[in-house]
Amino acid sequence: MEPKTTIDLAGKVALITGASRGIGRESALRMALAGAKVAVNYHRSEKEAQSLVREIGDQKAMAVRADVGTPGDVQTMIDAVVKRFGRIDILVNNAATFAKNPFDGPDYAAWQRGWRTTFDVNVFGAANAAYLAMRSMRKTGGGKIINIASRAAFRGETEFPDYGASKAALVNLTRSIARACAEDNIIASCVAPGFIETEMARSQLEAHLEEILEQIPLGRVGTVDDVAAVILFLASPMADYLNGVTIDVNGGSWFH
Ligand code: NAP
Repeated sequence: MEPKTTIDLAGKVALITGASRGIGRESALRMALAGAKVAVNYHRSEKEAQSLVREIGDQKAMAVRADVGTPGDVQTMIDAVVKRFGRIDILVNNAATFAKNPFDGPDYAAWQRGWRTTFDVNVFGAANAAYLAMRSMRKTGGGKIINIASRAAFRGETEFPDYGASKAALVNLTRSIARACAEDNIIASCVAPGFIETEMARSQLEAHLEEILEQIPLGRVGTVDDVAAVILFLASPMADYLNGVTIDVNGGSWFH
């Protein structure tokens, strides 16, 4: 076999959820540059998703709307990708919601809604997409599922406890897929970013930048490049023996 020194995803089809901006967008772009066809999932940001598809080229990319927290939408999304590109080799479960839901909030109903929405999108969305994508992967000889968790999975969250718990669930989902689905050549891995400069982290970075920087030995907040590079590696044949792992991308700010 040729030694693997470059990443070539030619012939592969990747579906990235929440790819209209941030980490998902950068991951979609890199997979396309590595030769993959990419499906760019979005929920609300249609214009941004379409613009990314134009940037990649619409022979090699498609935009697909789905609220991943709605099971029927996930089915429609998977069906649309298989219809257009014939297969799914790489699924990146990246879409997520991150909303404050503190333990001392005043409204019990809002607390419950917060947990439900967070788990619908961050956990059930990923589990449902994995379940359905696997049906296609089994037919084409296997695939890769990459879940985007967070440092919060290990550290916990003071004001976003439902988010932290949802990301811990993704770490465990990754391990379950790794153990259960290897026999179908379906490989799972997980990425746990620390603070990354995106829309999602903006309000926290604005409010607590100094405190956040003090936690990071490398002395800077992460970028979408830092995370997308690791996602691309995990999607590539170079990472074929990494199964069930979670890789921290946090500048050394937390170890697990
Ligand atoms: P972002 O810039 O806010 O982007 C979030 C993406 O998720 C958007 O494309 C958004 O699409 C999509 N999305 C949200 N709800 C959705 C839903 N119900 N259905 C489908 N798509 C949905 O966030 P990011 O920072 O790139 O985050 C990407 C991943 O990294 C997430 O899993 C996040 O938890 C994780 N992460 C981020 C950080 C950080 O500091 N940024 C740290 C740790 C982990 P629309 O705009 O189209 O709705």
